[in-house]
Amino acid sequence: MTAERHSGRVGHYDVVVAGGGPAGAAAALTLARAGRTVLLADSGGGAPKIGEALPSSARTLLDELGAGRLPLSAGHLPCYANLSSWGASVLGRTDFINDPNGPGWHLDRARFDRGLREAARTAGAEVAERTTVRPGARQPDGGWSVVLRGQGAPREVRCAWLVDASGRSHAIASSARASRRRTDRLVATCLELAPDPTERTGETSSLVESDQDGWWYTALLPTGRRLVAYFTDADLAAPALRSREGFGRLLSRTRHVAARAEAHPVLGDALPRRAPAHSAHLDLPSGSGWIAVGDAAAAFDPVSSQGILTALFTGMTGARALVARLDGDTAALASYHTTVAGILTAYRRNHRAVYALEDRWQSRPFWQRRRTPHPHDTLRKESV
Ligand SMILES: Cc1cc2nc3c(=O)[nH]c(=O)nc-3n(C[C@H](O)[C@H](O)[C@H](O)COP(=O)(O)OP(=O)(O)OC[C@H]3O[C@@H](n4cnc5c(N)ncnc54)[C@H](O)[C@@H]3O)c2cc1C
Repeated sequence: MTAERHSGRVGHYDVVVAGGGPAGAAAALTLARAGRTVLLADSGGGAPKIGEALPSSARTLLDELGAGRLPLSAGHLPCYANLSSWGASVLGRTDFINDPNGPGWHLDRARFDRGLREAARTAGAEVAERTTVRPGARQPDGGWSVVLRGQGAPREVRCAWLVDASGRSHAIASSARASRRRTDRLVATCLELAPDPTERTGETSSLVESDQDGWWYTALLPTGRRLVAYFTDADLAAPALRSREGFGRLLSRTRHVAARAEAHPVLGDALPRRAPAHSAHLDLPSGSGWIAVGDAAAAFDPVSSQGILTALFTGMTGARALVARLDGDTAALASYHTTVAGILTAYRRNHRAVYALEDRWQSRPFWQRRRTPHPHDTLRKESV
């Protein structure tokens, strides 16, 4: 077995990781700890990720990664329970009081991601902030020439392998023309509200409430502001959701979310923001000279609360497989494919089970679509 090694020369790395979210940082950390030379580049672009929650089981995964305490040390809000009105108008409650891992978190995502990148740097990875990775020409030895665009002039580096951790944009897989499929058209419309001036509603549970065309989510943010989001399919989203007034009108029809939101004044300049939230995955999470992790490999409906955990896990397992591949184990990536396929199977099963719990609007398209199983052959090809 031959080991591939590109390190030892300036500007030459074993691996360049494109994307410094949870998946990319976990991959870079794992590769660096295994003694590989790695450059982790994060473009830092895109809409800020606000109001995301991390389940308490992440503690175990972060320990396994050796990420240390920094990512969760400060700046996040503990989440002690999830409340939901789903399948019934009354609120159900899942309390974390009996969870051996303790409470979950309402994350400050920028801070969490920075902490993870810092852990990767401490482990020996080189980190380039505000830097975009664009794959260039393949080299005669099978490696890559890669263009890095940051604040200064673009520079070119070489690497043996690329990790696509670019999130839903799947930048590397997309430029390699890898096939990716999506199973629905879910979009999120999000509005941030100002802190409650009376601080009456210090309730830090997250809350989900379904309606006839989708579902609402609200959570307090570490800043004291409140996020309210509505999830429905792109073709079903009411045009009114785009304006503050229209969003407020639809919100006022909810029972529980409106009750949480009413103490929070509307921010003068805030407009509802739309973000894709559909499920999508690559047919195969690796190709010639690249491997995809996190949302780039498989992106999930946020109802699963599984996105960040899966990003950390696939970042770690994908990187372990890549270390083995670089050490000459040609079967290592096939076993990563099997791992990702297993995650997708479990996700589909749980997704169907969760949506089946809501049976009050069975004839409405949003709920009807989620009752129909989506075997591989009915999935649509995703256009980038
Ligand atoms: C509305 C919504 C709500 C959600 N809520 C939750 C939640 O509550 N809990 C949860 O666990 N998950 C949630 N998720 C899912 C979660 O956001 C993702 O699963 C998670 O961020 C995936 O991590 P990642 O590292 O794969 O990608 P990302 O976090 O998207 O990181 C990708 C990074 O790569 C960078 N990048 C892109 N292209 C390049 C390039 N060419 N070169 C360099 N850098 C590049 C981007 O700037 C970004 O920083 C939610 C998703 C949505 C849409």
